[in-house]
Amino acid sequence: MNDIAIASLTAGRLTDLEATYGAKNYKPLDVVLTRGQGVHVWDVDGNRYLDCLSAYSAVNQGHCHPKILAAMVEQAGRLTLTSRAFRNDQLGLFYQELCALTGSHKALPMNSGAEAVESAIKVARKWAYEVKGVAKDQAEIVVASDNFHGRTVAIVGFSTDPASRAGFGPFAPGFRVTPYGDAEALEAAIGPNTAAVLLEPIQGEAGVIIPPAGYLKRARQLCTEHNVLLILDEIQTGLGRTGKLLAEEHEGVEADLTLIGKALSGGFYPVSAVLSNNEAMGVLHPGEHGSTFGGNPLACAVARAALKVLVEEDMIGNAARIGDRLQASLASIQAPRVKDVRGRGLMIAVELHPDAGGARRVCEALQSRGLLAKETHDHTIRIAPPLILTADQADWIAEQFAAVLA
Ligand SMILES: *Cc1c(COP(=O)(O)O)cnc(C)c1O
Repeated sequence: MNDIAIASLTAGRLTDLEATYGAKNYKPLDVVLTRGQGVHVWDVDGNRYLDCLSAYSAVNQGHCHPKILAAMVEQAGRLTLTSRAFRNDQLGLFYQELCALTGSHKALPMNSGAEAVESAIKVARKWAYEVKGVAKDQAEIVVASDNFHGRTVAIVGFSTDPASRAGFGPFAPGFRVTPYGDAEALEAAIGPNTAAVLLEPIQGEAGVIIPPAGYLKRARQLCTEHNVLLILDEIQTGLGRTGKLLAEEHEGVEADLTLIGKALSGGFYPVSAVLSNNEAMGVLHPGEHGSTFGGNPLACAVARAALKVLVEEDMIGNAARIGDRLQASLASIQAPRVKDVRGRGLMIAVELHPDAGGARRVCEALQSRGLLAKETHDHTIRIAPPLILTADQADWIAEQFAAVLA
């Protein structure tokens, strides 16, 4: 459909089509977007918004980044998919650049974040049997309460969110939940059959929950002491969002397996990866794991460009500087409704008091002022704009919050 045909469909009509034909597994804000550029998106009526969600941090580089777009168009006209039955001339370069940037030994390319998580679980289990010597089918993975790692059956099986799990069982065994941020509980949960500890460095979906200082370091120590793999899910926190390439750097920790996705393509294409620091990935042999689209040349070309602009345009440093500035201005808002402002880099949350009328209403008020943000749970608003945000734009965001929360 061309632009004119799209424009002739009203927002209401497009919303009706979604309601009529679509599964109702989302409750989006009432805005129908048609265009994006940088930090901004436009709805079908021509209204402009500053995007403070960035597709859950998949658009860290800003919407439709011209260099990623150029790489995608060029590659799409040349070769898109070969499957891994044949080699392609992008995959090796993607591996090399990704491993050099993240200091990893090996990478495994997948598509969605959930697939990267599933892949890491498979690697950890196989490692437990073949290297650690855990008895057949006894491997355990320790996870945290309030985790979010995706939506597959295995993953929702170890979620502690009733909405994510209820009605989807039976679930895979072999997962043990421990309270997030509690190092003693983590130590108690690790046993002789533990293959891995899987954590988010900061819990994004739970509402930007930052664990106590030292927690990740202690988790790293415990994993080393007990010969357990530390898997950090950096699908949301990674690739500059918190002001470092990976959030683990804030605590000087290195995971054995690191999961990235989302911004790995700058929002153009689903690309995820498992990164490994050691021999763990070596347990996978031909035929034991795979994906038709994983590592395809289009994905690799897009991801290479997405990583390149992240570094070349200093988006990571910008996230640290502008994130500090935005957090400080949000924290200075004098509004009794605000319970807490927290964050790291440009991963920020404003939490309201439970009797403050709910985060959804605040998001709707922000929308009418040209700012798109999404509530997470009932009382928290996440602020995660693209990492190219300017100081003026950060100040403008804080002004809108001040006006709406007053
Ligand atoms: C988004 C996300 C996932 C899942 O990614 P999908 O691409 O939606 O499958 C996993 N872990 C974390 C921390 C995420 O934020």
